[in-house]
Amino acid sequence: MQLNDPSLFRQQAYIEGKWCDAHRGEAITVSNPANGQTLGSVPKMGADETRTAIEAANRALPAWRALTAKERANILRRWFELMMANQDDLAQLMTLEQGKPLAEAKGEISYAASFIEWFAEEGKRVYGDTIPGHQADKRLIVIKQPIGVTAAITPWNFPAAMITRKAGPALAAGCTMVLKPASQTPFSALALAELASRAGIPEGVFNVVTGSASDIGNELTSNPLVRKLSFTGSTEIGRQLMAQCAKDIKKVSLELGGNAPFIVFDDADLDKAVEGALASKFRNAGQTCVCANRLYVQDGVYDRFAEKLQQAVDKLQLGDGMTPGVTTGPLIDSKAVAKVEEHIADAVEKGARIITGGSLHKLGGNFFQPTILVDVPGDAKVAKEETFGPLAPLFRFQDEADVIAMANDTEFGLAAYFYARDLSRVFRVGEALEYGIVGINTGIISNEVAPFGGIKASGLGREGSKYGIEDYLEIKYMCIGL
Ligand code: ADP
Repeated sequence: MQLNDPSLFRQQAYIEGKWCDAHRGEAITVSNPANGQTLGSVPKMGADETRTAIEAANRALPAWRALTAKERANILRRWFELMMANQDDLAQLMTLEQGKPLAEAKGEISYAASFIEWFAEEGKRVYGDTIPGHQADKRLIVIKQPIGVTAAITPWNFPAAMITRKAGPALAAGCTMVLKPASQTPFSALALAELASRAGIPEGVFNVVTGSASDIGNELTSNPLVRKLSFTGSTEIGRQLMAQCAKDIKKVSLELGGNAPFIVFDDADLDKAVEGALASKFRNAGQTCVCANRLYVQDGVYDRFAEKLQQAVDKLQLGDGMTPGVTTGPLIDSKAVAKVEEHIADAVEKGARIITGGSLHKLGGNFFQPTILVDVPGDAKVAKEETFGPLAPLFRFQDEADVIAMANDTEFGLAAYFYARDLSRVFRVGEALEYGIVGINTGIISNEVAPFGGIKASGLGREGSKYGIEDYLEIKYMCIGL
């Protein structure tokens, strides 16, 4: 590791402005998914340390909440600027612990920083309402106030951005936060905490606790001081955390699994569709919750699309994310590899054909070849389950109504994509897809100004945009008698 600023590499948790070890002195080792080498370790904390962090966040709340939105914005702006000033180091830490190519990691840092910048501004626009009274001597006013102490649990696939799109709106709204980052990628989170401290975010306002997911999660969901939990991760764990939060009726925001359909109609611009499929499917080696999972291609363009996609996929360069020119890194671990293998084997057994890839790459380890399957039958596992890896299964369809029915036939509802040029079709299909996000003639849909989130089993709430800050606010109605 060659950081310009080695003090960004922190191997301790961050509670109430101090760097701390676990009470019992235990630690979790963090390794590089590209080569298995140990990068360092972080404290293995549990319920006790989490309680300490929650109490710190609760102590910090009154003063933070009492600042004006502009005062908080000025501090958050410094956090944003420090992230951008340290973009190279933050990206390097991310590539080392997560595996994504350095250029992609740099992109994520600027994407992550954009949430802090944007919400710092949006915090100033937390408007209420005045409502014409129902009686002559009454005045009705609605104000919005920060929810209070919040908790966040984040995954490893976007080690920085999944944090800032929770911390940005929370802190801008006047909430404080205890964060538990994924155990695979804690160094990105801890570097953000170091920069938060340098930016002048007061102690206790933003805390990072590393360690046992279930012990920390239990405390975050059962401690009455925590008023809200925001979680990004699997539907299975999201369901569990939501149930745990039910006891105290804590608010929850959940950003869970997806099973994104990617539909190419006969009238699509095929080159653009290939470009979009490449970005949506193979970015981060297929490990994003909005990755295209099932590609439905209309009969008339099926063969041409498959051929063009294959040409594009064959140009991808697999390798260690630190190597210049690499476009695709390793998968996060061997379990992720096994899932891709399982989906390929199942589809092939049911009649699909592999036109490129299909197995582990010669680099070994967690490197899996970008793979395309054609003639995939509708009953293949990959039609129902999220692969979370570099596998593009191509399904053939004939007509619009059928493909909409197939696209909606899932418990998930996060992102969907389609390519078409007929204007009526664009509106018809866009409105018929049961998803929180629809990319039309584009494979890239995430940014800080738009609402990101799913329906059905893909989650609750929205992140980014003016809607994202609402998740951290309570509405208070004041009825004033004259
Ligand atoms: P993924 O498959 O993407 O790792 P998970 O849902 O397993 O998704 O993990 C997402 C985040 O949730 C990680 O930070 C993980 O440590 C955390 N997590 C996993 N299990 C639990 C749990 N029982 N309680 C709280 N957090 C958990």
